[in-house]
Amino acid sequence: MKAPIARFRMHVDGRAVESASGRWLDSYDPYTGEVWSRIPRGDDRDAARAVEAAHRAFVSGPWRAMGASDRGLLLHRLGDVVAAHAEALAELEVSDNGKLKAEMLGQMRYVPRWFHYYGGLADKVEGSVTPIDKPGMFHYIVHEPQGVVVAITPWNSPLLLTVWKLAPALAAGCTVVVKPSEHSSASMLELARLFTEAGLPDGVLNVVTGLGPEIGEALVSDPRVARIAFTGGDPGGRRVYETAARSLKRVSLELGGKSPNIVFDDANLDDAVKGIVSGIFAATGQTCMAGSRLLVQRGIHDELVGRLVDFMASARLGDPRQADTNVGPVSTRPQLDKVLQYIDVAKAEGAWCALGGRRAGGPGLGKGWFVEPTVFTGVHNGMRIAREEVFGPVLSVIPFDTDDEAVEIANDTPYGLAAGLWTSSIDRALNVPKRLRAGTVWVNAYRVVSYMAPFGGFNDSGIGRENGLQAIRDYLEPKSVFVNPRQGDVPNPFVLR
Ligand code: NAD
Repeated sequence: MKAPIARFRMHVDGRAVESASGRWLDSYDPYTGEVWSRIPRGDDRDAARAVEAAHRAFVSGPWRAMGASDRGLLLHRLGDVVAAHAEALAELEVSDNGKLKAEMLGQMRYVPRWFHYYGGLADKVEGSVTPIDKPGMFHYIVHEPQGVVVAITPWNSPLLLTVWKLAPALAAGCTVVVKPSEHSSASMLELARLFTEAGLPDGVLNVVTGLGPEIGEALVSDPRVARIAFTGGDPGGRRVYETAARSLKRVSLELGGKSPNIVFDDANLDDAVKGIVSGIFAATGQTCMAGSRLLVQRGIHDELVGRLVDFMASARLGDPRQADTNVGPVSTRPQLDKVLQYIDVAKAEGAWCALGGRRAGGPGLGKGWFVEPTVFTGVHNGMRIAREEVFGPVLSVIPFDTDDEAVEIANDTPYGLAAGLWTSSIDRALNVPKRLRAGTVWVNAYRVVSYMAPFGGFNDSGIGRENGLQAIRDYLEPKSVFVNPRQGDVPNPFVLR
């Protein structure tokens, strides 16, 4: 018997609510291709309600009155509650985006670290006293929360990427409205319930759901919102940036990439093959940091491509909930169409398909949205397949001769999110990263992240960084306070002092 379709509700001011319009959106399970749940289709009325709640919690609620240590303790407790629900959260994400249960469970077990780390930092943001150059004057700097934060997030790692924003924003004392992707809202709605369970005051976190242009834009336009933290694609990011600029909101953008994964001829090729696979076939290639351009030194080109193709020939496509599945489906139907179109583009451009290149079907794949892991050789960096983000399991292999040429090709992209390099040379390991225009560089590794390590992009990959010590500061405004302790000591008022 088929499971009934689950219905989730939004979370506003500590309560589960439906949308003002009473409308719903379907969420599809990418493995079955069928609707498994429904989420409210919110609009500007729901955005206003959520911002109102967050604003009230910011200006007058217990959150505002609470000391930073108590705020930190609550975040710590929240981390513990999330850890206890990791399995259930992972299940929700697999149903929504079809990524491997092993991957999502790993992410959900890691997410509490963000709450623990930023909970620990909450009371360590110190101001300072300045040896100010004004005789008799006292001056100090304090850091105050920016206010209401709107976090807008994508479907590929729904909770992880949201928590990168939530944990530092809350530790800083802000309140938050989250608008998760319309394709994968369930885990965030469940997380909101856990906030209440952990004892966070109502209104500190609000979650509204729906479409970007309908409810997302309303949130970004609201004058009570101080800060936008966006992760998603270029078109949405640019639109959000433009809208936010009208009211001079602070904005961070984590956008796409076309990251180079460079293999030099002195690399350990077994390691490199695994790094290539984790870069482009893990998570079905649906990661912003995907190593979608493989730059290979010409002397090892054929051997490396041969080994990669052999390795992937034994990779199992299938049910993302099964422990022995390596590659799951593409997460959404429009994304499936986009990936298949790019495969056609690459073929039309003259790239040679060394592996895959089609929609995958057959036993165990049912009506799921599967694409064969695909490797194109004979790609040059001017082709669309080398310049545009596919966001799927499609790798472009580009040969190079010298280190200079590798760096030049690597940097010849509008993006700059990440880069990998594989070498046994200490010289290359230390010197090539200096020359790569990317926010993260991995040496003999790929797709490694940490709450301690800043993450974000150069160029069109975005604005700002998430994670690390600095992230909490990015949700704070410095305030400069001059105090003249003496009476009768105000000099000529017409002249700058
Ligand atoms: P998307 O831009 O379509 O959607 C992201 C979010 O923005 C969704 O919640 C969507 O509803 C909302 N949105 C869209 N248009 C909007 C608008 N006009 N106003 C307000 N909100 C709007 O992206 P996606 O397809 O969900 O995710 C895939 C993209 O995300 C890829 O390009 C990927 O590279 C990028 N991404 C980047 C990072 C990073 O850290 N740099 C991480 C993961 C994904």
